[in-house]
Amino acid sequence: MLDVIVIGAGPAGVVAALRAADLGAKTALITRDEFGGMAASDGPVPVRTLAHAARLIRDARQLGQYGITVNEPILDYSRLLSRVRQVVSDVQARSVFRPQIDSLGVAVYEKAGSARFADPHSIETEKGLRLQAEKIIICTGGVSRRLSVPGAELTATHSDAWSLTSVPSSMMVIGAGATGVQVASVFNAFGSKVSLFQAGPRILTTEDQDVSEAVAAALRKSGIAVRENFGDIASFERTPSGVRMIFSKDGAFDSAEAALAVVAVGWVANTAGLNLSRPGVETDHRGFVRVDAYLRTSASHVFAAGDITGRLMLVPTAIQDGFVAATNAVRGTTMTLGNQVTPVGSFTDPEYAQVGMTEEKAREAHDVVTAIMPFDSATRTIIDGRTTGFCKLIADRATYQILGCHVVGDRAVEITQAAAIAISAGMRVDDLAHVPLSFPTYVGILGRAAASAARQLNLKVKWQEVHAGA
Ligand SMILES: Cc1cc2nc3c(=O)[nH]c(=O)nc-3n(C[C@H](O)[C@H](O)[C@H](O)COP(=O)(O)OP(=O)(O)OC[C@H]3O[C@@H](n4cnc5c(N)ncnc54)[C@H](O)[C@@H]3O)c2cc1C
Repeated sequence: MLDVIVIGAGPAGVVAALRAADLGAKTALITRDEFGGMAASDGPVPVRTLAHAARLIRDARQLGQYGITVNEPILDYSRLLSRVRQVVSDVQARSVFRPQIDSLGVAVYEKAGSARFADPHSIETEKGLRLQAEKIIICTGGVSRRLSVPGAELTATHSDAWSLTSVPSSMMVIGAGATGVQVASVFNAFGSKVSLFQAGPRILTTEDQDVSEAVAAALRKSGIAVRENFGDIASFERTPSGVRMIFSKDGAFDSAEAALAVVAVGWVANTAGLNLSRPGVETDHRGFVRVDAYLRTSASHVFAAGDITGRLMLVPTAIQDGFVAATNAVRGTTMTLGNQVTPVGSFTDPEYAQVGMTEEKAREAHDVVTAIMPFDSATRTIIDGRTTGFCKLIADRATYQILGCHVVGDRAVEITQAAAIAISAGMRVDDLAHVPLSFPTYVGILGRAAASAARQLNLKVKWQEVHAGA
């Protein structure tokens, strides 16, 4: 019998297997597909590659502003997909985790078929593999949620981007969370006529209100039709050139048509077929595996990590989860997740990113000051002709602690990493303002926002003048 079996080789499963083996446990890692999971083959890696292509098109269109004459960029989508496949393969081949896993003696079963519990301690796969272990860690991630309305089979998900042969002439994207907005932004840059449908009153509902509004305005300016509060979907039907969505609002029916309809309405746990009732693993009302602070499930010998637990669905979170779950599986329940500082961002046009609390959340428990630095007042963004956006910093009026940072605009994701470091280090807003950041940089805008917040708090900032020119 093994000590630990990990099911699923995405970031959570890979790190769980690595950690368990590092702690001396005899470990096996079983996965249906390839090492790396959805993150490597269907999530951030390929999507970011498409987003990079969209950025290159933007950059090419800007060349004239700098006196460089080229023709209008033309996208060859099938060549772009070849590049995506090459990137995915390079990332997998250069994974730092694979050699470590191998050197620690983890038995890796790739493309093993779907795994399931045969009994509380035995895992069997479709391809006939059967292993037993004292502890089992479930890291099977999730899949796009599908709609359950007539004609839903006519819709696509972000994963269908990999099998398109060309850029669709028009696209409706249903769901304006991180994935939907990213798909809309990227395919708009590729030349599709895009409409973005959001059931709620604003897009990007988990972002700060100012960020939602600024991104919605920028998407509209770039030609995307953004429709908030659009109503309830009744059905989809085929048309000669694509698909029609029929929806109703306040009793009145309406419809929209496009060559392709992409649904991005959330994520469901990959629990189907795992036979979770055999070990007694419970799921919550959304279908995700229920875990305690140690990532232990309702069966005391089974742990779960990553997207399958339905919390923040991000690669860094999955990695931390895998580490914690494996530590507890091998050593006993000794480690909890603690307070995680988790920056979140998306590679849209314009980019947006956040770390910490939104202003609305911060105001629930704190007396706050906010400082907003518009991109059109910073030297570097003016140099680069990237003047759309802002950096918003939220600080506690009593303790001067940084509570949140929200950025819209070019390099928003990178700027937010510096704020995440400041928040992790427990820096006060004047501490951050005192860091002598390089000039002229994007991250300098964060220093300037910190100096502005510190001034509002009557804190002395000796770098104020420097940041004034960032
Ligand atoms: C379009 C998109 C863009 C994203 N962009 C970002 C981003 O920019 N940054 C970021 O941090 N996160 C991003 N994410 C989220 C990120 O990809 C996930 O949070 C992360 O992959 C979760 O890791 P995981 O290990 O929990 O699961 P996964 O990566 O989903 O891995 C699960 C593994 O389990 C296997 N599996 C499933 N069921 C079984 C079974 N029954 N038996 C055996 N194996 C099974 C699967 O084959 C897979 O290998 C994005 C996601 C999407 C969809």
